Amino acid sequence: MTKKIILLLFFPFIANAASLPESLAVPGGIVIKQLAPSHTKKPTASFLENRVLIVKNQDHWTAIVGIPLSLKPGVHQLQVTTSHQKNKKVPFTISAKDYPAQYITLKNTQMVSPNATNLARIKKERRPINRALNTWSEKDRIETDFSLPVVGRLSSLFGLRRFFNNQPKNPHSGLDIAAPKGTPITAPTTAKVLETGHFYYNGKTVFLDHGQGLISGYFHMSAIHVKPGQRVYRGEILGTVGETGRVTGPHLHWNIYLNKAKVDPALFINSYLAQLKGESIN
Ligand SMILES: [Zn+2]
Repeated sequence: MTKKIILLLFFPFIANAASLPESLAVPGGIVIKQLAPSHTKKPTASFLENRVLIVKNQDHWTAIVGIPLSLKPGVHQLQVTTSHQKNKKVPFTISAKDYPAQYITLKNTQMVSPNATNLARIKKERRPINRALNTWSEKDRIETDFSLPVVGRLSSLFGLRRFFNNQPKNPHSGLDIAAPKGTPITAPTTAKVLETGHFYYNGKTVFLDHGQGLISGYFHMSAIHVKPGQRVYRGEILGTVGETGRVTGPHLHWNIYLNKAKVDPALFINSYLAQLKGESIN
């Protein structure tokens, strides 16, 4: 564990300096746009009809926009309402990004082509998951300087085009950090627990609400130590690394959602990435 994380565990207020995620204008990335001076009324913004996170940063109201992996490269626009103008269009350009392919073999074929009983379970589980992911909680001060939820080895990057037993599936929507079963997973900022559950593909799961549509998800846990509605502090233990759900070994699959788009969690923990690559699980 690094000195910084230990400090964060004991002195959570140290982490209060504003720091935005890294911007990367590609599908699965983040666009950061200054909208209006911060002495004016806070603007509102939406992208693809979903409200967008707005923070006060360096004298400006600034939008932090999640770009869906499925978005076509090209010019897109934010719909912005400021104290001066309603539904102003703010354009930005998204470049293409070639995410590599990943081929995974799963012995449990039910994790690739589920039968009717399992499909019914998967369908039923969509409701609590979607309810959690559709949450918008109004909050002025949003912490975007995330700490590492677990120390381990980066085992799968975000965005990989995935093939399970040679069948094309959805791209990898999060970041995988491999660590031994039982390794603590901690909250990357102060947040509220939105939902917990044991889901078919995701295994034992926790969703955290960071405010204004910034949501994080922790999958495949071996144990969950928090309850929905509970406030958690940066560094507080959410549960432990496991191999529940669709996995090939113990790891944390970490998702980050912005305006309902799954974005690359690496953009939130840029300063820690080198440290993760250097880690080994053994
Ligand atoms: Zn994963």
